Amino acid sequence: MDLNLKGKKVFVTGGSVGIGLAVARKFAEEGADVAIGARDKERVYREAGEIQKKFHVDVLGIQMDVTRLEDIEKARDKIEKQFEGLDILINNAGTGSEETIMDGDDRKWYYYWDLHVMAAVRTARAFVPTMKKRGGGIIINTASICAKQPLGYEPIYNTTKAALVMFGKCLANELIGDNIRVNTVNPGLVLTPDWWKTAGILSEREGVSAQDYLDRVAEENAPIGRFATPEEVADMYVFLASPRSSYCVGSTYYIDGGWLKVVD
Ligand code: NDP
Repeated sequence: MDLNLKGKKVFVTGGSVGIGLAVARKFAEEGADVAIGARDKERVYREAGEIQKKFHVDVLGIQMDVTRLEDIEKARDKIEKQFEGLDILINNAGTGSEETIMDGDDRKWYYYWDLHVMAAVRTARAFVPTMKKRGGGIIINTASICAKQPLGYEPIYNTTKAALVMFGKCLANELIGDNIRVNTVNPGLVLTPDWWKTAGILSEREGVSAQDYLDRVAEENAPIGRFATPEEVADMYVFLASPRSSYCVGSTYYIDGGWLKVVD
């Protein structure tokens, strides 16, 4: 299936590992030029180089922290200089949390608010003007199944991802008249370094190995009985960014192996 993404300019936040990297590679495979942003400079430059080497498209690695407005503005300037605009924005940077509501302090709440919500607000302000000039665009936010079905150990994550889903809906309504389609992807269990980090912390408390912990999580939660690979999730992004999904607007798509326990 030709997704008509050749030559498109794409920016993936959190594109240096996990889901974001798989998404960036998938776009590059389709012939799109790709910018990836993340905090760890060495890793983001290295992965940008690898994508360029493998897919022979124009690739830009950007060291940035999406919780900082000035970093988003600098990223916009770099992308403008290299790509002369942007067609597709993927707001993907994010991470799990671990707290109770009683012990999570204000600073932590505000950090996750900036990471999962304000980053998407600010990238919209930064990149929508160039999309409008180009006659349209695509924005895809990575939220989580936890936006609808909370995990007990991460109330701050659940809450801020739920806010991101609502933000995506509001933005979709605001921008569809400009031919900019906004959608959200809610992954379930995707085996990425973020999960190994979580498993490392929680398995220690239970006295089991991280691998055993992850196997049990998959068996107990996902009816499919396993984690997704990042590549399985990434396929949805290229589809949602392509003209093949032209009537998909303001929706949330679950990729969760059947984990969501309600009809949504
Ligand atoms: P990873 O930890 O594997 O990757 C996270 C990416 O985001 C990295 O590139 C990281 O790079 C970057 N990042 C984190 N914080 C910042 C920041 N402040 N500024 C810029 N970049 C940042 O995570 P996943 O691939 O697992 O998750 C990707 C997204 O998918 C997240 O939003 C997550 O909440 C969501 N998700 C994941 C699920 C899963 O099972 N894996 C399930 C549901 C949702 P660096 O550290 O260098 O900044």
